[in-house]
Amino acid sequence: MKNLLENNENLDPEDWEASKALMHKMVDDAFDYVKNVRDRKIWQNMPNEVLETFKTKLPKTPSSSASVYQELQDNVLPYPMGNIHPRFWAWYMGNGTISGVMGDFWASILNPNLGGGNHAAHKVEEQVINWIKEIIGFPETASGLLVSGGSMANYSGLTVARNVKAGYDIRAEGLKENNLVFYGSTEVHSCNTKAVELLGLGTKGLKKIKVNNDYTININALKQQIALDKANGLQPICVIGTSGTVNTGAIDNLNAIADICEKENLWFHVDGAIGAIAMLSNKVKPQLNGIQRANSVALDLHKWLHMPFEAGCVLIKDSYEHKNTFSLIPEYLEKNTRGLASGDNWFSEYGLQLSRRFRALKVWMSLKEHGSEKFGRMITKNVDQAYYLANLIEIHPDLELLAPVGMDIVCFRYNNGNNTLNELNAINKEIKLQIEERAIALPGYTTLNNIYCIRCAISSHRVTNADFDDLITHILSIGKAISK
Ligand SMILES: *Cc1c(COP(=O)(O)O)cnc(C)c1O
Repeated sequence: MKNLLENNENLDPEDWEASKALMHKMVDDAFDYVKNVRDRKIWQNMPNEVLETFKTKLPKTPSSSASVYQELQDNVLPYPMGNIHPRFWAWYMGNGTISGVMGDFWASILNPNLGGGNHAAHKVEEQVINWIKEIIGFPETASGLLVSGGSMANYSGLTVARNVKAGYDIRAEGLKENNLVFYGSTEVHSCNTKAVELLGLGTKGLKKIKVNNDYTININALKQQIALDKANGLQPICVIGTSGTVNTGAIDNLNAIADICEKENLWFHVDGAIGAIAMLSNKVKPQLNGIQRANSVALDLHKWLHMPFEAGCVLIKDSYEHKNTFSLIPEYLEKNTRGLASGDNWFSEYGLQLSRRFRALKVWMSLKEHGSEKFGRMITKNVDQAYYLANLIEIHPDLELLAPVGMDIVCFRYNNGNNTLNELNAINKEIKLQIEERAIALPGYTTLNNIYCIRCAISSHRVTNADFDDLITHILSIGKAISK
C-alpha cells in the first residue's frame, strides 16, 4: 500500500528550465562584472538602507530565486572589497581569474569530499600537489596538502616541525616541558605567532630576531640567539625563513638559514605565502635559492597565483613525518582494498580537516589553461611594475621611498621637506584615505620605524603602468593641498 504520508520534497529547482535560464543570466552578468570592473568604483561605503537589509531575521519561508538574485545585485555586488580591481594594492591579495571561477563552479557541482576515497577529485589534488612540488624544487617523495591559505599552511608545517623535533612522542605525551623554541625575524607574519601559541608553546615560543636594513633576518643575531638559548637549557627546534615579508617583500637568506639548520639539527620552515610561488618567475627564482632545502614550505595560491579564495598549500619534504603528525584512523574511517573506500594517502591523514572541499580543481584547470610559464610572466610583470612605481617615487622631490623594493611591494610617502614626523604620518594617512574614499585606488599602509608608509603590494594581473602614473598624480595633488 502506498504510504500517503511520504514526503518527496527536496532542494532541487522546482522548474529546472527556469533555474537554468536564471543561472545563464548570472553567468552573463558575472562575466560583464569582471570585464567591466574598471567602470565601477573600486570601493564605496554601504549606505544605511543597504546595511539595514543585513539585519532582517531568518527567512523561514521561500522567496523566488530571481528575487534573491535581485537582492544580491542591489545590496552585495555594488559594495565589493575591491580586490578584483586592477588598482587594489592593499594587504596582499590576488585578483582571481575566470578559469578559477569555472573550477570553483564545477567543484560545487561535483561537491566531493577530499577527506579521502578513491575518486577522480582525489587524483586531481594529488596531481596539483605534485605540480607544486615541481615548482618549488621538492622531490617526488615529498608530501603536501591544499589548505585554506598561508595561515593553515604555516600552522601545518610548524606542527610537523614540533612533533619531529621535540625528541619524544609529543602526540601521546603532550608537552613535557615548555622549552621548545621556534625562530623567525621581527618581520615574521603574525599567523606564525598564532600557530606557535596553538602548539602550546606560548608567544615566547617564537623568538623574533632583528632584521638588517633590507628587512631580512640578521643571520649573526640568529646564530647568537640559538647559542644563548641552548646555554640556558632551552631546546631550539625550528627556524622560519620568510620568502617575501608582508611589510616590504623582503626575502630572507634561505641558504644561510638552511646551513644553520643543518648544523644545529633544526627544522627549516619557509613561510612563502607571498613569494614561494614566484619560483615560476625567472626574475625572482634566483633570489629564492635555498627554498628547496627546507623541510617544509607554506605557500598561497590565492595571492600571487590569483586563484579565487581560498587556496594555499603546505609541502613537507619527508612524507612519513607529515603523515605521522596527522594520521588517526578510527574504525569508521578504515579503508577497504576495493571500491570507493580504497586508495592510499587519504588527505585527512595529512592535516587537521576531515571534510575538505575540492579546491584543487580551480588550480588544475587554471594551470592547464594558461600554463605555468604565463603565471610566471604575470609575477615578473608585477615585479617590473614595482620598480616602475619606485622610479616615479625616486625621481620626484616630494616623494620618498621608505624601504628597498621587495619583489612587488613598494613602501613610500609624500614628503616635501616642510613637515615634522608626526605631521608627515598624519598627512600620509589622510592621503591614503582620500585616495580610497574617492575610489581612485586602494593602496595599503604599514608602519616602518615609526614612519607611516603608503604601501603598494602589486599582485594584480590586470594592472598597467598608467595606473601608477595616475596614483602618483593624485598623491602629489592631495599632498600639496594638505601639507605646509
Ligand atoms: C598572507 C600571509 C600569510 C597568511 O596567509 P593567509 O592566506 O592570509 O592565511 C602568512 N605569511 C605571509 C608572509 C603572508 O603574506
